[in-house]
Amino acid sequence: MNEQLENLNRLPLRDDLRGLTPYGAPQLDVPILLNVNENTHGLPEHVRRAIMAEIESVVGGLNRYPDREFTRLRQSLATYLGHGLTADNIWAGNGSNEVLQQILQAFGGPGRTVMSFPPTYSMYPLLASGTGTTYVTGTRAADFSLSADSAAEQIRAQAPNLVFLCTPNNPTGTGMELDVIEAAYEAGEASNAVVVVDEAYAEFSHADNPSALQLLPGRERLIVSRTMSKAFALAGARIGYFAAAPQVSDALRLVRLPYHLSAITQATAVAALTHADSLLSNVEDIKSQRDRIVAELTGLGLKPAPSDSNFVLFGGLENPRAVWEGLLEAGVLVRDVGIDGHLRVTAGTEAETTAFLDRLRELLTA
Ligand SMILES: *Cc1c(COP(=O)(O)O)cnc(C)c1O
Repeated sequence: MNEQLENLNRLPLRDDLRGLTPYGAPQLDVPILLNVNENTHGLPEHVRRAIMAEIESVVGGLNRYPDREFTRLRQSLATYLGHGLTADNIWAGNGSNEVLQQILQAFGGPGRTVMSFPPTYSMYPLLASGTGTTYVTGTRAADFSLSADSAAEQIRAQAPNLVFLCTPNNPTGTGMELDVIEAAYEAGEASNAVVVVDEAYAEFSHADNPSALQLLPGRERLIVSRTMSKAFALAGARIGYFAAAPQVSDALRLVRLPYHLSAITQATAVAALTHADSLLSNVEDIKSQRDRIVAELTGLGLKPAPSDSNFVLFGGLENPRAVWEGLLEAGVLVRDVGIDGHLRVTAGTEAETTAFLDRLRELLTA
């Protein structure tokens, strides 16, 4: 046992946290970072200026606590999402990870279960253990898809308190048809399950992959979660949110820390949302790089999963570790998500994507 672990184990740590490892995607200092699905296009100059101006307008009031109800932000998010949503339908937190944690604090906890379908977002089991919620897993087909019938059957069998459905799914990039979400919701009726649809990558979807937002009317156990970390290029600002029935937000008010969204966070998000159009035009560029990666990897004889996100999971690698290292030597960091024969790459700028593809071609033909 190493010294760090020995030191940790002397502490009166909760039994259910013993032996766990924290989230830890490597943060390395290399020129081309394509490993954690960040937006590789920085904020346009006019959006930076708008954010600075909005922050400047709140700095004078930083001696006071911020608006606990983040009313302006909720209004801006409702306007951005459309679908007839109002501020009452919106909740936000410091990244959608915090929002998901608050959902588990309110609806999960000891004696309760949250179900998901791996391979999926690696934070779900960690958020579950942090809140004392039991994580139960279902299964997908070999091509990572999940049909409505299969989802419904598995949910009925497990009777979970919560279901997390990630679409487009991380790390596979694949989208999910709305009928799967409808079936999951109906199957969850028996256990009164809260169904969370994590749409962190929704803005990168192809036009024919609709959002679960349209399923919200009449479904009070349904939550559609989003983030400003990806499409809005604001991973460093930590802003995530969801749309749901107003009573879902009332439940989260019971567990959130008071004033959890700083005035600076609120100002940043409101300013960025004012410029949603220009931020989303970068999204179009990223989508075309994503489609280019899928096409070129196919040409190289690899097996990329179809992607509705800003990244591509690809299989067919004999030695993913050697490819990961070879890319890193050339200053390109991608992600080993622990699926046999696979790696995951985030779509970069055109130049970054070219550097990744050129180096990969070299490695495969060496
Ligand atoms: C990146 C990501 C998030 C976003 O997390 P933030 O806390 O908002 O940065 C949420 N869900 C999935 C599946 C993700 O990949």
